[in-house]
Amino acid sequence: MSSTEIPRGEIKEFETRCLHLSPELERKRFSETYGAVSFPIFQTAAFVHPGVRDDYIPGQDHISLSAGHNYTRESNPTRSHLESLVAQLENGEEALASASGMAAISLLLNLFDAGDDILVDADLYGGSVRIFNDLGGKRGLRFERRDFTRPENLSSLKLNNLKAVYFETPTNPMTRVVDIERMAKFAHERGALCIVDNTFLSPYFQNPLDFGADIVVHSGTKFLAGHHDLIAGFLVLRDKILAERLRALSTAVGSALAPFDAWLTIRGIKTLALRMQRAQENAFEIVEWLQKQPRVKRVCYPGLKNSDAYAIMKKQARGFGAMISFELDSKERAIAALTGVKTILFAESLGGAETLLTYPIAQTHASVPKEALDAIQLNDRILRLSVGIENVQDLVSDLDQAING
Ligand SMILES: *Cc1c(COP(=O)(O)O)cnc(C)c1O
Repeated sequence: MSSTEIPRGEIKEFETRCLHLSPELERKRFSETYGAVSFPIFQTAAFVHPGVRDDYIPGQDHISLSAGHNYTRESNPTRSHLESLVAQLENGEEALASASGMAAISLLLNLFDAGDDILVDADLYGGSVRIFNDLGGKRGLRFERRDFTRPENLSSLKLNNLKAVYFETPTNPMTRVVDIERMAKFAHERGALCIVDNTFLSPYFQNPLDFGADIVVHSGTKFLAGHHDLIAGFLVLRDKILAERLRALSTAVGSALAPFDAWLTIRGIKTLALRMQRAQENAFEIVEWLQKQPRVKRVCYPGLKNSDAYAIMKKQARGFGAMISFELDSKERAIAALTGVKTILFAESLGGAETLLTYPIAQTHASVPKEALDAIQLNDRILRLSVGIENVQDLVSDLDQAING
Protein backbone atom coordinates (compact mmCIF):
# COMPACT_ATOMS: atom_id res chain seq x y z
CA MET A 1 0.00 0.00 0.00
CA SER A 2 1.07 3.53 -0.64
CA SER A 3 1.72 6.12 2.01
CA THR A 4 3.88 8.46 -0.01
CA GLU A 5 1.25 10.77 -1.48
CA ILE A 6 2.97 14.15 -1.80
CA PRO A 7 0.84 17.28 -2.17
CA ARG A 8 3.14 19.46 -4.31
CA GLY A 9 4.26 23.02 -4.15
CA GLU A 10 3.89 23.76 -0.48
CA ILE A 11 7.46 23.39 0.73
CA LYS A 12 9.82 24.69 -1.89
CA GLU A 13 13.32 25.02 -0.59
CA PHE A 14 15.50 21.93 -0.52
CA GLU A 15 16.98 22.51 2.95
CA THR A 16 13.46 22.76 4.38
CA ARG A 17 12.31 19.68 2.48
CA CYS A 18 15.07 17.65 4.17
CA LEU A 19 13.28 18.33 7.47
CA HIS A 20 9.58 18.74 6.73
CA LEU A 21 6.86 17.21 4.60
CA SER A 22 3.99 19.41 3.43
CA PRO A 23 2.15 21.15 6.32
CA GLU A 24 -0.82 18.88 5.67
CA LEU A 25 1.23 15.66 6.00
CA GLU A 26 3.12 17.10 8.97
CA ARG A 27 -0.14 17.76 10.83
CA LYS A 28 -1.27 14.22 10.10
CA ARG A 29 1.93 12.67 11.38
CA PHE A 30 2.00 14.79 14.56
CA SER A 31 -1.56 13.73 15.33
CA GLU A 32 -0.53 10.07 14.91
CA THR A 33 2.69 10.30 16.96
CA TYR A 34 1.85 12.42 20.02
CA GLY A 35 3.46 15.44 18.35
CA ALA A 36 6.92 13.86 18.45
CA VAL A 37 9.38 16.20 16.71
CA SER A 38 11.69 13.31 15.86
CA PHE A 39 9.68 10.70 13.95
CA PRO A 40 9.41 7.63 16.25
CA ILE A 41 10.97 4.27 15.47
CA PHE A 42 8.12 1.81 15.07
CA GLN A 43 10.16 -1.19 16.12
CA THR A 44 7.44 -3.77 15.55
CA ALA A 45 7.01 -6.72 13.22
CA ALA A 46 3.20 -6.67 13.20
CA PHE A 47 0.25 -4.32 13.72
CA VAL A 48 -3.02 -5.23 15.46
CA HIS A 49 -6.03 -5.42 13.15
CA PRO A 50 -9.06 -3.47 14.29
CA GLY A 51 -11.44 -5.89 12.55
CA VAL A 52 -12.26 -7.75 9.37
CA ARG A 53 -13.37 -5.61 6.48
CA ASP A 54 -16.95 -6.04 5.25
CA ASP A 55 -15.87 -6.19 1.63
CA TYR A 56 -13.14 -8.75 2.24
CA ILE A 57 -12.83 -11.22 -0.69
CA PRO A 58 -11.35 -14.58 0.42
CA GLY A 59 -8.17 -15.53 -1.41
CA GLN A 60 -7.77 -12.06 -2.89
CA ASP A 61 -7.64 -9.46 -0.16
CA HIS A 62 -5.82 -8.86 3.03
CA ILE A 63 -8.28 -9.22 5.93
CA SER A 64 -7.95 -5.64 7.07
CA LEU A 65 -6.05 -2.57 5.98
CA SER A 66 -7.88 -0.11 8.16
CA ALA A 67 -5.01 0.42 10.59
CA GLY A 68 -2.78 1.41 7.65
CA HIS A 69 -0.10 -1.19 8.34
CA ASN A 70 -0.18 -4.98 8.77
CA TYR A 71 3.32 -6.38 8.81
CA THR A 72 6.69 -4.62 8.58
CA ARG A 73 7.94 -6.61 5.59
CA GLU A 74 5.11 -4.90 3.71
CA SER A 75 5.01 -1.46 5.32
CA ASN A 76 6.02 0.35 8.49
CA PRO A 77 5.32 3.95 9.57
CA THR A 78 8.99 4.88 10.10
CA ARG A 79 9.94 3.51 6.70
CA SER A 80 6.91 5.17 5.06
CA HIS A 81 7.92 8.54 6.53
CA LEU A 82 11.43 8.12 5.13
CA GLU A 83 9.98 7.13 1.73
CA SER A 84 7.84 10.29 1.69
CA LEU A 85 10.92 12.40 2.44
CA VAL A 86 13.05 10.80 -0.27
CA ALA A 87 10.24 10.97 -2.87
CA GLN A 88 9.87 14.65 -2.03
CA LEU A 89 13.63 15.34 -2.37
CA GLU A 90 13.80 13.61 -5.78
CA ASN A 91 10.58 15.23 -7.11
CA GLY A 92 9.10 11.73 -7.47
CA GLU A 93 5.65 10.34 -6.78
CA GLU A 94 6.85 7.43 -4.71
CA ALA A 95 9.99 6.04 -3.14
CA LEU A 96 10.77 2.53 -1.92
CA ALA A 97 13.37 2.03 0.80
CA SER A 98 15.40 -1.18 0.56
CA ALA A 99 17.86 -2.96 2.80
CA SER A 100 20.73 -1.83 0.51
CA GLY A 101 21.44 -0.14 -2.78
CA MET A 102 22.01 -3.60 -4.26
CA ALA A 103 18.64 -4.82 -2.91
CA ALA A 104 17.02 -1.87 -4.72
CA ILE A 105 18.85 -2.69 -7.96
CA SER A 106 18.01 -6.39 -7.72
CA LEU A 107 14.31 -5.49 -7.28
CA LEU A 108 14.56 -3.68 -10.60
CA LEU A 109 15.79 -6.84 -12.34
CA ASN A 110 12.41 -8.42 -11.52
CA LEU A 111 10.74 -5.98 -13.91
CA PHE A 112 12.35 -7.70 -16.89
CA ASP A 113 11.89 -11.06 -18.63
CA ALA A 114 14.20 -13.51 -20.39
CA GLY A 115 15.17 -12.14 -23.79
CA ASP A 116 14.85 -8.46 -22.79
CA ASP A 117 17.70 -6.18 -23.81
CA ILE A 118 19.06 -3.73 -21.26
CA LEU A 119 21.59 -1.15 -22.36
CA VAL A 120 24.04 -0.11 -19.63
CA ASP A 121 26.84 2.43 -19.52
CA ALA A 122 30.48 1.30 -19.70
CA ASP A 123 31.36 2.75 -16.27
CA LEU A 124 29.21 1.42 -13.44
CA TYR A 125 29.58 0.60 -9.77
CA GLY A 126 31.28 -2.83 -9.58
CA GLY A 127 28.42 -4.38 -7.61
CA SER A 128 25.97 -3.38 -10.33
CA VAL A 129 28.15 -4.99 -12.99
CA ARG A 130 28.31 -8.18 -10.92
CA ILE A 131 24.56 -8.44 -10.36
CA PHE A 132 23.76 -7.66 -14.01
CA ASN A 133 26.17 -10.30 -15.30
CA ASP A 134 25.47 -13.02 -12.74
CA LEU A 135 21.86 -12.74 -11.62
CA GLY A 136 20.57 -10.96 -14.71
CA GLY A 137 22.46 -13.30 -17.04
CA LYS A 138 21.04 -16.39 -15.30
CA ARG A 139 17.52 -15.05 -15.84
CA GLY A 140 18.19 -14.57 -19.54
CA LEU A 141 18.38 -10.77 -19.49
CA ARG A 142 20.74 -9.46 -22.16
CA PHE A 143 23.01 -6.65 -20.98
CA GLU A 144 24.86 -4.56 -23.56
CA ARG A 145 27.62 -2.25 -22.34
CA ARG A 146 28.21 0.96 -24.27
CA ASP A 147 29.84 4.31 -23.65
CA PHE A 148 26.94 6.66 -22.84
CA THR A 149 29.22 9.69 -22.91
CA ARG A 150 29.16 9.20 -26.70
CA PRO A 151 25.42 8.92 -27.30
CA GLU A 152 25.90 9.62 -31.03
CA ASN A 153 27.34 6.08 -31.31
CA LEU A 154 24.22 4.48 -29.87
CA SER A 155 21.70 5.28 -32.60
CA SER A 156 22.97 2.51 -34.91
CA LEU A 157 22.54 -0.16 -32.19
CA LYS A 158 20.17 -2.99 -33.10
CA LEU A 159 18.40 -3.99 -29.91
CA ASN A 160 14.97 -5.27 -30.86
CA ASN A 161 13.78 -5.88 -27.35
CA LEU A 162 15.19 -2.86 -25.54
CA LYS A 163 13.43 -2.46 -22.18
CA ALA A 164 15.73 -0.13 -20.24
CA VAL A 165 18.81 2.05 -20.34
CA TYR A 166 20.76 2.20 -17.08
CA PHE A 167 23.56 4.54 -16.01
CA GLU A 168 25.19 6.61 -13.27
CA THR A 169 26.14 10.23 -13.66
CA PRO A 170 28.74 11.21 -12.67
CA THR A 171 30.09 7.69 -12.92
CA ASN A 172 31.98 5.73 -10.30
CA PRO A 173 34.94 6.12 -10.10
CA MET A 174 35.92 8.03 -13.24
CA THR A 175 33.32 10.81 -12.80
CA ARG A 176 32.34 10.73 -16.49
CA VAL A 177 29.11 12.60 -17.14
CA VAL A 178 26.08 11.30 -19.06
CA ASP A 179 23.42 13.61 -20.54
CA ILE A 180 20.25 12.47 -18.75
CA GLU A 181 17.82 14.28 -21.06
CA ARG A 182 19.43 12.79 -24.15
CA MET A 183 19.47 9.24 -22.78
CA ALA A 184 15.85 9.53 -21.56
CA LYS A 185 14.81 10.59 -25.06
CA PHE A 186 16.79 7.70 -26.56
CA ALA A 187 15.02 5.25 -24.21
CA HIS A 188 11.54 6.67 -24.67
CA GLU A 189 11.78 6.69 -28.47
CA ARG A 190 12.29 2.93 -28.19
CA GLY A 191 9.61 2.34 -25.56
CA ALA A 192 12.22 1.64 -22.87
CA LEU A 193 12.69 2.91 -19.32
CA CYS A 194 15.44 5.33 -18.35
CA ILE A 195 17.00 4.38 -15.00
CA VAL A 196 19.60 6.62 -13.31
CA ASP A 197 21.74 5.82 -10.27
CA ASN A 198 21.98 9.24 -8.57
CA THR A 199 24.14 8.11 -5.63
CA PHE A 200 27.15 10.32 -6.41
CA LEU A 201 25.38 13.69 -6.38
CA SER A 202 22.41 12.94 -4.13
CA PRO A 203 19.13 14.81 -4.69
CA TYR A 204 20.76 17.93 -3.25
CA PHE A 205 22.69 18.46 -6.47
CA GLN A 206 20.68 16.56 -9.09
CA ASN A 207 17.12 15.35 -9.77
CA PRO A 208 17.18 12.99 -12.78
CA LEU A 209 13.36 12.66 -12.87
CA ASP A 210 13.21 16.35 -13.87
CA PHE A 211 15.22 15.48 -17.00
CA GLY A 212 13.04 12.59 -18.11
CA ALA A 213 14.36 9.63 -16.11
CA ASP A 214 11.68 7.15 -15.05
CA ILE A 215 13.41 5.60 -12.06
CA VAL A 216 16.12 6.97 -9.77
CA VAL A 217 18.32 4.55 -7.82
CA HIS A 218 20.21 5.44 -4.66
CA SER A 219 22.61 3.71 -2.41
CA GLY A 220 21.15 5.39 0.68
CA THR A 221 24.24 4.13 2.49
CA LYS A 222 26.17 7.01 0.94
CA PHE A 223 25.29 10.73 0.96
CA LEU A 224 21.62 10.34 1.95
CA ALA A 225 22.30 8.61 5.28
CA GLY A 226 25.73 10.23 5.29
CA HIS A 227 27.43 8.85 8.40
CA HIS A 228 28.97 5.52 7.36
CA ASP A 229 26.75 3.78 9.92
CA LEU A 230 24.15 1.82 7.94
CA ILE A 231 23.30 0.18 4.61
CA ALA A 232 20.20 1.32 2.70
CA GLY A 233 18.88 1.76 -0.83
CA PHE A 234 16.10 3.58 -2.67
CA LEU A 235 14.09 3.49 -5.86
CA VAL A 236 12.23 6.70 -6.67
CA LEU A 237 9.54 6.71 -9.36
CA ARG A 238 7.24 9.05 -11.24
CA ASP A 239 4.81 6.32 -12.22
CA LYS A 240 2.52 5.06 -9.45
CA ILE A 241 1.60 1.84 -11.23
CA LEU A 242 5.23 0.86 -11.66
CA ALA A 243 5.86 1.86 -8.04
CA GLU A 244 3.06 -0.42 -6.85
CA ARG A 245 4.49 -3.29 -8.90
CA LEU A 246 7.88 -2.81 -7.28
CA ARG A 247 6.32 -2.46 -3.84
CA ALA A 248 4.51 -5.77 -4.30
CA LEU A 249 7.83 -7.36 -5.33
CA SER A 250 9.58 -5.84 -2.30
CA THR A 251 6.90 -7.31 -0.02
CA ALA A 252 7.18 -10.66 -1.79
CA VAL A 253 10.96 -10.98 -1.52
CA GLY A 254 11.30 -9.16 1.82
CA SER A 255 13.98 -6.63 0.88
CA ALA A 256 12.60 -3.51 2.58
CA LEU A 257 14.64 -1.39 5.00
CA ALA A 258 14.34 -2.14 8.74
CA PRO A 259 12.64 0.50 10.95
CA PHE A 260 15.76 1.41 12.96
CA ASP A 261 17.88 1.92 9.84
CA ALA A 262 15.01 3.91 8.31
CA TRP A 263 15.05 6.14 11.38
CA LEU A 264 18.84 6.65 11.18
CA THR A 265 18.45 7.57 7.50
CA ILE A 266 15.74 10.14 8.38
CA ARG A 267 18.20 11.58 10.89
CA GLY A 268 21.02 11.63 8.34
CA ILE A 269 18.87 13.42 5.75
CA LYS A 270 18.22 16.27 8.20
CA THR A 271 21.78 17.51 7.51
CA LEU A 272 22.03 16.47 3.85
CA ALA A 273 22.16 20.03 2.51
CA LEU A 274 24.77 21.20 5.04
CA ARG A 275 26.95 18.15 4.49
CA MET A 276 26.78 18.36 0.69
CA GLN A 277 27.70 22.06 0.68
CA ARG A 278 30.66 21.60 3.00
CA ALA A 279 31.91 18.44 1.29
CA GLN A 280 31.77 20.15 -2.10
CA GLU A 281 33.66 23.21 -0.81
CA ASN A 282 36.36 20.90 0.55
CA ALA A 283 36.43 18.96 -2.74
CA PHE A 284 37.08 22.12 -4.78
CA GLU A 285 40.07 23.04 -2.59
CA ILE A 286 41.48 19.52 -2.75
CA VAL A 287 41.11 19.39 -6.56
CA GLU A 288 42.96 22.67 -6.86
CA TRP A 289 45.77 21.34 -4.66
CA LEU A 290 45.96 17.97 -6.45
CA GLN A 291 46.30 19.69 -9.83
CA LYS A 292 49.50 21.39 -8.65
CA GLN A 293 51.22 18.19 -7.50
CA PRO A 294 53.89 16.87 -9.88
CA ARG A 295 53.22 13.28 -8.74
CA VAL A 296 49.53 13.58 -9.62
CA LYS A 297 49.16 12.83 -13.34
CA ARG A 298 45.41 13.22 -13.76
CA VAL A 299 42.51 14.56 -11.71
CA CYS A 300 38.91 13.51 -12.47
CA TYR A 301 36.24 15.81 -11.09
CA PRO A 302 33.10 16.90 -12.95
CA GLY A 303 33.59 20.50 -11.75
CA LEU A 304 36.70 20.96 -13.92
CA LYS A 305 35.87 23.60 -16.52
CA ASN A 306 36.23 23.50 -20.32
CA SER A 307 35.10 19.94 -20.89
CA ASP A 308 31.96 18.48 -22.48
CA ALA A 309 31.22 17.00 -19.08
CA TYR A 310 31.20 20.44 -17.49
CA ALA A 311 28.62 21.78 -19.95
CA ILE A 312 26.30 18.81 -19.29
CA MET A 313 26.78 19.21 -15.53
CA LYS A 314 25.78 22.88 -15.77
CA LYS A 315 22.59 21.84 -17.54
CA GLN A 316 21.42 19.01 -15.30
CA ALA A 317 23.02 19.50 -11.87
CA ARG A 318 23.14 22.25 -9.26
CA GLY A 319 26.65 21.34 -8.13
CA PHE A 320 29.53 18.95 -8.73
CA GLY A 321 29.61 16.87 -5.58
CA ALA A 322 32.47 15.60 -3.46
CA MET A 323 33.84 12.59 -5.35
CA ILE A 324 37.32 12.90 -6.86
CA SER A 325 39.53 10.33 -8.57
CA PHE A 326 43.20 10.95 -9.26
CA GLU A 327 46.06 9.10 -10.88
CA LEU A 328 49.51 8.95 -9.30
CA ASP A 329 52.78 8.39 -11.15
CA SER A 330 53.13 4.74 -10.10
CA LYS A 331 51.23 1.82 -8.62
CA GLU A 332 53.69 1.74 -5.71
CA ARG A 333 52.97 5.38 -4.89
CA ALA A 334 49.22 4.73 -5.03
CA ILE A 335 49.51 1.83 -2.58
CA ALA A 336 51.82 3.82 -0.29
CA ALA A 337 49.30 6.69 -0.20
CA LEU A 338 46.51 4.30 0.87
CA THR A 339 48.44 3.17 3.90
CA GLY A 340 50.14 6.53 4.46
CA VAL A 341 47.03 8.60 5.17
CA LYS A 342 46.45 9.36 8.86
CA THR A 343 43.27 11.45 9.15
CA ILE A 344 41.73 10.22 5.91
CA LEU A 345 40.58 6.60 6.18
CA PHE A 346 41.48 3.85 3.71
CA ALA A 347 38.03 2.27 3.45
CA GLU A 348 35.51 1.20 0.87
CA SER A 349 32.49 3.43 0.86
CA LEU A 350 31.63 7.05 0.14
CA GLY A 351 29.31 9.88 0.95
CA GLY A 352 29.76 10.05 4.73
CA ALA A 353 31.03 12.70 7.13
CA GLU A 354 34.54 11.20 7.20
CA THR A 355 36.83 11.45 4.16
CA LEU A 356 37.59 8.01 2.70
CA LEU A 357 40.27 6.93 0.26
CA THR A 358 39.60 3.87 -1.92
CA TYR A 359 41.58 1.78 -4.41
CA PRO A 360 38.92 1.10 -7.07
CA ILE A 361 40.82 -1.52 -9.07
CA ALA A 362 41.17 -3.80 -6.04
CA GLN A 363 37.99 -2.81 -4.19
CA THR A 364 34.82 -1.47 -5.83
CA HIS A 365 35.84 -2.66 -9.30
CA ALA A 366 37.55 -5.94 -8.38
CA SER A 367 34.92 -7.95 -10.27
CA VAL A 368 34.98 -5.86 -13.45
CA PRO A 369 36.65 -7.53 -16.48
CA LYS A 370 40.01 -6.10 -17.68
CA GLU A 371 38.67 -4.93 -21.09
CA ALA A 372 35.93 -2.99 -19.33
CA LEU A 373 38.50 -1.34 -17.04
CA ASP A 374 40.68 -0.42 -20.04
CA ALA A 375 37.68 1.07 -21.83
CA ILE A 376 37.21 3.61 -19.06
CA GLN A 377 40.97 4.06 -18.43
CA LEU A 378 40.76 2.73 -14.89
CA ASN A 379 44.23 1.49 -13.88
CA ASP A 380 46.23 0.52 -10.78
CA ARG A 381 47.53 4.06 -10.22
CA ILE A 382 44.08 5.55 -9.59
CA LEU A 383 42.73 6.41 -6.16
CA ARG A 384 39.23 7.60 -5.33
CA LEU A 385 38.54 10.15 -2.65
CA SER A 386 35.14 10.67 -1.04
CA VAL A 387 35.57 14.07 0.53
CA GLY A 388 33.96 14.55 3.91
CA ILE A 389 33.27 17.51 6.16
CA GLU A 390 36.52 17.77 8.14
CA ASN A 391 38.62 20.95 8.11
CA VAL A 392 40.01 21.08 4.60
CA GLN A 393 43.53 22.14 5.66
CA ASP A 394 43.79 18.96 7.72
CA LEU A 395 42.76 16.94 4.67
CA VAL A 396 45.26 18.67 2.36
CA SER A 397 48.13 18.25 4.88
CA ASP A 398 47.27 14.58 5.22
CA LEU A 399 47.27 14.04 1.44
CA ASP A 400 50.52 16.00 1.21
CA GLN A 401 52.37 13.77 3.66
CA ALA A 402 50.85 10.60 2.12
CA ILE A 403 51.73 11.51 -1.50
CA ASN A 404 54.85 13.68 -1.15
CA GLY A 405 56.20 12.68 2.26
C1 LIG B 1 27.48 1.83 -3.11
C2 LIG B 1 26.83 1.96 -4.41
C3 LIG B 1 25.81 1.09 -4.79
C4 LIG B 1 25.39 -0.09 -3.94
O1 LIG B 1 24.78 0.31 -2.76
P1 LIG B 1 24.86 -0.51 -1.36
O2 LIG B 1 24.09 0.38 -0.44
O3 LIG B 1 26.30 -0.66 -1.01
O4 LIG B 1 24.20 -1.82 -1.59
C5 LIG B 1 25.19 1.31 -6.00
N1 LIG B 1 25.56 2.33 -6.82
C6 LIG B 1 26.54 3.18 -6.47
C7 LIG B 1 26.91 4.29 -7.40
C8 LIG B 1 27.21 3.03 -5.27
O5 LIG B 1 28.21 3.87 -4.94
